[in-house]
Amino acid sequence: MIWNEEFETLPREALEALQLKRLQRILQRVGETVPFYKKQFQEAKVQPEQIKSLADLQRIPFTLKQDMRDNYPYGLFAVPLEEIVRIHASSGTTGKPTVVGYTRRDIDNWTELMARSFVAAGAHSGDVIHNAYGYGLFTGGLGAHYGAEKIGASVIPMSGGNTKRQIMIMQDFGSTVLTCTPSYSLYLAEAAAEEGVDIKNLKLRIGIFGAEPWSESMRWEIEAKLGVKAIDIYGLSEILGPGVGIECIEAQHGLHIWEDHFLPEIIDPDTGEPLPKGETGELVITTLTKEGIPMIRYRTRDITRLIPKPCVCGRTHLRLERMSGRTDDMLIIRGVNVFPSQIESVLMKIKGVEPHYQLIVGQEDNLDTLEVLVEVTETSFSDEIKIMQGLADQIRDQIKDFLGVTCKARLVEPKTLARSEGKAQRVVDQRPRKN
Ligand SMILES: [Zn+2]
Repeated sequence: MIWNEEFETLPREALEALQLKRLQRILQRVGETVPFYKKQFQEAKVQPEQIKSLADLQRIPFTLKQDMRDNYPYGLFAVPLEEIVRIHASSGTTGKPTVVGYTRRDIDNWTELMARSFVAAGAHSGDVIHNAYGYGLFTGGLGAHYGAEKIGASVIPMSGGNTKRQIMIMQDFGSTVLTCTPSYSLYLAEAAAEEGVDIKNLKLRIGIFGAEPWSESMRWEIEAKLGVKAIDIYGLSEILGPGVGIECIEAQHGLHIWEDHFLPEIIDPDTGEPLPKGETGELVITTLTKEGIPMIRYRTRDITRLIPKPCVCGRTHLRLERMSGRTDDMLIIRGVNVFPSQIESVLMKIKGVEPHYQLIVGQEDNLDTLEVLVEVTETSFSDEIKIMQGLADQIRDQIKDFLGVTCKARLVEPKTLARSEGKAQRVVDQRPRKN
């Protein structure tokens, strides 16, 4: 099923022509209304009318998260506050949050894109959508909510937290679609088991998971534990919120980015140079229709690649390879670059290991150390030191073999690592801060 047949299957040529028209219009508009962009264009000695092709966009400078902070709270808004009907903000772990504003039309577009996303994931009217993304300043809850209503599903605005209650509602209300972070879905399955409920036997058939990077092996784990098709969704508040891209249920490989609204580029994160089609690098997005806070060449810090091959579902919008992580999440352990999701991928393939882990990064004699804490299954947890040591050695060796990183593996009892109701904290970096 396709929600918006006309736009989602637009032939590439027409789609690119539409992108160019919208790009020219938005550059013109931000050049006139946002002092930050006006200055950027002047400094780069390029004017919006000089952008004659999509490739010309490379002449325009990038926008960084720092630019949002520097213009806190409303400095990058392209319309007066009277036209803004909603404000969201990302939880800044350090300092001020980044603030985004939506006009009425922005909300309509977001709703449309979330509707497309739900339908691409296999949801339809008649579904009971259990929305466990947080409602509030975070874009997840409300973003998914409006799209779910749009397709005519019955949405349960659960928000995060209160896990026991979530399970009761899921059972009693007959939830068929679950939206939350991938790590929380596993926590729900585990908590349900403690209540004597096998979540697999409930009516859930689809899970739409996002807001944190997760590996392909984690997908299999979730599908097996919850008895759902697990679909990856992509979004970030700076660009829209959830619904920038999603996997289709037909392929379950690669996330269609809605290209009539977003123009993706892949760059080398070190040099900023664009990479040839199909190569892996940092995703940069230009919003083509946003009114409240348009983003021009925004560096998302997400690492992915564009899949050039057409998709079996018939949608013509390009797919993003599942994110391996963010440039800021990348760990450098004694000179080796590694993403937490890569370690996760190795762990999930080892028998006797649970999908709950934490990475402790430290320093000893000026050398980085990595300790991998991982839970083992009830059945493989053993008092016999020899058996446990064997499993820990296996984890250490596999991580060394596949990723080239030396680590220490520590096995912990089931259910000892902290569970999160939102984004899981996978990494604890205890290294002294470099200034
Ligand atoms: Zn597809």
